[in-house]
Amino acid sequence: MVTLLERGKTHRTPARTTSTVDVAIVGMGPWGLAALERLVSGAIELGEGGPDLTVHVVEPSVPGSGLYGGDQPDYLILNTPCGQHSMYPFPERARCRLGVGFYDWAVATGYRWVADRCEVTTEGRAITPDDFLPRRLMGEYLAWFYRVLVAEMPDNVRIVHHRTTASDIVERDGYEVVLLDDGSVVRVEHVILTTGQTQKPSQGSGPVLAPYPVEGLDAAIEPGARVVVRGMGLVAIDMVCALTLGRGGTFLRAPDGRLRYVASGAEPEIALFSRSGHAYCAKPMGSADPTEHYEPRICTPEAIAELRFDEDGRRRQVDARAELLPMLLAEMTTSFYAESARLAGGEACAAEIAVRLADAWLEGRFEAEVDRAEGRFGRFDAASHLFVGEGETFADSAAAEARVVQVIADDVAEALAPGGRSPVKSAYEVLRALRDVVRSVVEFGGLTLASHRDFQEHIRNRITRMVAGPPVERCEQLLALIEAGVVRVPFGPAPIVMIEPDGVTVRSRALARPRTERFEHLVLAHLDHPTVHASASPMLASLHRKGRVRQFRIDGEDLGSIDLTAEFHPIGSDGRVQERLWVFGALSEGPRYFTAYIPSPASRVRAFVDAGLCCEQILEVER
Ligand SMILES: Cc1cc2nc3c(=O)[nH]c(=O)nc-3n(C[C@H](O)[C@H](O)[C@H](O)COP(=O)(O)OP(=O)(O)OC[C@H]3O[C@@H](n4cnc5c(N)ncnc54)[C@H](O)[C@@H]3O)c2cc1C
Repeated sequence: MVTLLERGKTHRTPARTTSTVDVAIVGMGPWGLAALERLVSGAIELGEGGPDLTVHVVEPSVPGSGLYGGDQPDYLILNTPCGQHSMYPFPERARCRLGVGFYDWAVATGYRWVADRCEVTTEGRAITPDDFLPRRLMGEYLAWFYRVLVAEMPDNVRIVHHRTTASDIVERDGYEVVLLDDGSVVRVEHVILTTGQTQKPSQGSGPVLAPYPVEGLDAAIEPGARVVVRGMGLVAIDMVCALTLGRGGTFLRAPDGRLRYVASGAEPEIALFSRSGHAYCAKPMGSADPTEHYEPRICTPEAIAELRFDEDGRRRQVDARAELLPMLLAEMTTSFYAESARLAGGEACAAEIAVRLADAWLEGRFEAEVDRAEGRFGRFDAASHLFVGEGETFADSAAAEARVVQVIADDVAEALAPGGRSPVKSAYEVLRALRDVVRSVVEFGGLTLASHRDFQEHIRNRITRMVAGPPVERCEQLLALIEAGVVRVPFGPAPIVMIEPDGVTVRSRALARPRTERFEHLVLAHLDHPTVHASASPMLASLHRKGRVRQFRIDGEDLGSIDLTAEFHPIGSDGRVQERLWVFGALSEGPRYFTAYIPSPASRVRAFVDAGLCCEQILEVER
C-alpha cells in the first residue's frame, strides 16, 4: 500500500534562474491540472537552468476537482475502472507523491466499499483496481493532487490561486491581461484555457428538465409522474440511477445470477428514447486498456499515412465514411477473428489468422478471407454492431422494446465473458486502441466538409457508444428495471417529440402500429457541445465579439466549436493566430476528436502529451 503521508518533499531545485515566465491557467478541472502538472514537471526537469515560473490559477471552485467536486451521490460513478486513472501519466518517471494513481490514493486514504457506498472505514470490502468508484472520490483525488503539486513545488515555481472567475482576456503591450470577477487582473505571457464544458446545459423550462444537478430532478419529479428521457447514453444512465437508486430502490442478485429491482414506491414512470434507439455498450469486465499494446494490422501507420497525405506529402482531406471507416471495420473484424482463434487454439492460431486477414486486405481479397474465417468461427458484421438500430422498423412497441432488451442482454453477456475474453468486445476495443489513429485523420480539418458533418452527426457518437459506456453492472440494472416495468423503451429509434406548455407528447416513427404517449416531464439526457459564438461564458463570448476567437470552419463554412491551429492556438476572425492563448479539453471538440475525459495514462494520455508540447514552448525547452 502506498503511504501518502510518509513521502516528503522531493523536489528542491536550486533557485538560480535566468528569466521569468508568467502563465495563467483559466479553469482548474482535470485538464487544467494536467497542464499544471506538465508545467511543473517541465520546470523541475529544467532545474537550475529553467525560468522563474509563476502560474496564476483562475478557478472559482476547489482547484483540481472540476465537475467532480461537491457532494455528489455515490450512485454517480465514473465510467472507467479506478486502476486506469492517474494524474501522473508517466509511471516510470514517478518518483514522488504525484506518482500515486487514483486506486492507490483511494486505498491509502482508507476508502472501502460499504454496500454501494465508498467510505473511509475498516468495515466492508476492499476496493480493487477494476472498481468503478463514485465521481466524488475523483473530485477528492484531483483536489489532493493539486495540493501536493503546490506543496512540492520547486523553489523557482510559484502558484497563485485566484478563487474567482475570469470574465475577459485583453491584449496589452505584448502581454495578456486576464480580467477577474473579483475586480483584480493578472498580466501574463501565456493563457491556457481549460474551462471544460463551459456552456452549461440549458436549464430547461416548463416540462423540459436539465439533467444536472440530479438533485433538481427530485424537486421537479413526483413519485408516479410520467417522465420521458431523451438520450440513452451515460447521462441517461445517471438519470435512471437518480430516479431509482436515488429514490431508495435497490437491486438484488437472484440465484440465477440476474439482477432484480426492488422498488421503493417513490419512482416515477420512466420511458427512454434516442436517435439510434439503443443503449450504450457495457465496459468489458476486468479488461485492461488495450491502447499501449495493440498492434494494428489494417490501420498500420503506413496505411494511415497514405490516407492522410497526397503523393507530394501534403495533408489531404479524407472522406471518413468512404476511406477511414472501411479500414476501422476491417481492423475490428480482424480483431474478432484473432480473438476467436486465440480462444480456440492459442496465440499461434490468433497470429496466423490475423496475418492472413491483413495480407488479404492488402491484396484486395479481404471478404473472401473473412468468409473462410466465418466458416470456422461464425459471423461477425462489424458495421451492424457500429450502426445498430439504423433503419430498424418494428411491428409494434413491444417488438421494439424486445429488440432493445436483446441488444443489451447480448452485450452484457459479452462484457461478462470469463477473463474478459470476448471476441466481440475485442473488436469493440479496437476503437479505443485506435483513438489516436482516428484523431490523426479527422482532427484540425482533416475531413472534407461533407464528411466532417457526417462524422460529427452519424459516426462519432456510434464509436463513443461502443467504447465509452458504463460498467456492465449499470447495463444489468437497466435490464432489471425494464423487466420490472419501471423503465420502458417503447418508441423504437428517433421518435417525434412535441413540447407543449404543460407536457410532452412522443410519437413513434419506426413502428407499423404507431405509439403515441404523453408525459409530464422531458429530461434532456445529453450535453450540448461548447461553442464560442453562443457561449454562456462571458469570457468566451467577449473573445468572440472582439474577434480573437472564431468558430471552427472548413472551406469557409462555420461549424461551431472553436477554430484552432494544430499547435492548440485559437484563430481570430481575421485569421490571425492568437499565439499567447492555448485551448484544451471539451471546448476544442470539433477541430479535435474525443476531448471529454479525465486525463490519465494509455487511451487518455493525449491530454498530457498535448499539454506537454504547449508547456515546452512556454518554458522554451529546446527539443
Ligand atoms: C456529468 C458528467 C460526467 C462525466 N463523467 C466522466 C467520467 O466518468 N469519466 C471521464 O473520463 N469523463 C467524464 N466526463 C467528461 C468530462 O468532460 C471530463 O471527464 C472532465 O471533467 C473534463 O475536464 P475539464 O477540466 O475539461 O472540465 P471540468 O471538469 O468541467 O473543469 C473545468 C473547470 O473550469 C472552471 N471554469 C469554467 N469557466 C471558468 C472561468 N471563466 N474562469 C475560471 N474558471 C472557469 C470550472 O469551475 C471547472 O472547475 C463527464 C462529464 C459530465 C458532464
